[in-house]
Amino acid sequence: LQTKLPKVGTTIFTVMSQLAQEHGAVNLGQGFPDFPVPPRLVEELDRAMRAGHNQYAPMTGVPALRQAIAAKTARVYGHAPDADTEVTVTSGATEAIFNAIHAVVRAGDEVVVLDPCYDCYEPAIDLAGARAVHVPLDPATFAPDWQRVREAIGPRTRMLMINSPHNPSGAMLSADDMRELAAILEGTGVFLLSDEVYEHIVFDGARHESVLRHPALRERAFVVSSFGKTYHCTGWKIGYCIAPPALSAEFRKVHQYNVFSTFTPGQHAFAAMLRDDPAHYEQLGAFYQAKRDRFREQLATTRLAPLPVPGGYFQLVDYSDVSDLDDAAFCRWLTVEKGVAAIPLSPFYDSPPPGQRLARLCFAKNEATLDAAIERLQRL
Ligand code: PMP
Ligand code: GLN
Repeated sequence: LQTKLPKVGTTIFTVMSQLAQEHGAVNLGQGFPDFPVPPRLVEELDRAMRAGHNQYAPMTGVPALRQAIAAKTARVYGHAPDADTEVTVTSGATEAIFNAIHAVVRAGDEVVVLDPCYDCYEPAIDLAGARAVHVPLDPATFAPDWQRVREAIGPRTRMLMINSPHNPSGAMLSADDMRELAAILEGTGVFLLSDEVYEHIVFDGARHESVLRHPALRERAFVVSSFGKTYHCTGWKIGYCIAPPALSAEFRKVHQYNVFSTFTPGQHAFAAMLRDDPAHYEQLGAFYQAKRDRFREQLATTRLAPLPVPGGYFQLVDYSDVSDLDDAAFCRWLTVEKGVAAIPLSPFYDSPPPGQRLARLCFAKNEATLDAAIERLQRL
């Protein structure tokens, strides 16, 4: 078989979760919370199902949810997208990213991605017959080098993808970054795909610079988010895309024939949550900041060196003091021999920086889980 995705194997998240299970390791690898969703969310889901919301949702999403997303966006970012023409509900951010790419990227086009980047980007670009052009982020700070981004953009560039807060590093783009980006894209026909799934998980009083705050950027952008991150339910796979009407129309053509519509009762439940409990997403940063701070204090008692975490729910650690293994081998060893599963960074790169000794640990966990992991990590 001449495969269409020769470079693709099983995702590192699946591989490490399986390995963790086989070896009884504490799983800080794949990113998912191990604590319950807000009780009200389950009640709303139950209510929606009992009320008979069990058939196909409208293709673009349940109106009450699109309206609630538009209202939340206006409240948080000062820009009110039109619920009917600019907001589309999707089956997770993964589907939204796939749709946005396939809506505008053609065979032979180029898409600029910033490495390290989340693993679903490049396969979607490849399937569109396009080519990913990889621009490395600064290996120490994970900040973009805008001059290199500028140089990577050429006549074939159709799209640029950004992700803030960033997976795997937690780095965040600043208002200055947004201005640089706007200057680079001005006068080009390049579309922007902004992956903002960790938008509400930001720390130390920082402000998430959504592309939706920036008129010059949002007019060419698909902005993607996910309720999985905000409501501790990665298994529900409900997200959304905000884009100007012309872009949303193309996006919806792909969505219509990719999944057609998204899980109906879940949409009703999120509509109620967004409308009635804004405190949940407003306090999410503080909720995770407490976990981050506690985990970092504990890590200080190990030989792993934690990097700064401005946002998201991942902690990068430098393990050079512990081992000379490359990151894939180290994470395997850590899981199998030491009982803590972590994610290596190399799968997030086209070409990983040589000698980089970093692993990603997820702190979206109960204290007991993190305590158990730390006890094992103290023995390294
Ligand atoms: N983008 C990033 C940066 C992510 O970390 C994730 C989830 N791991 C996704 C997209 C996909 O989100 P979803 O689970 O809603 O498809
Ligand atoms: N986004 C999650 C992570 O980065 C994993 C999602 C998945 O397993 N596909 O860990």
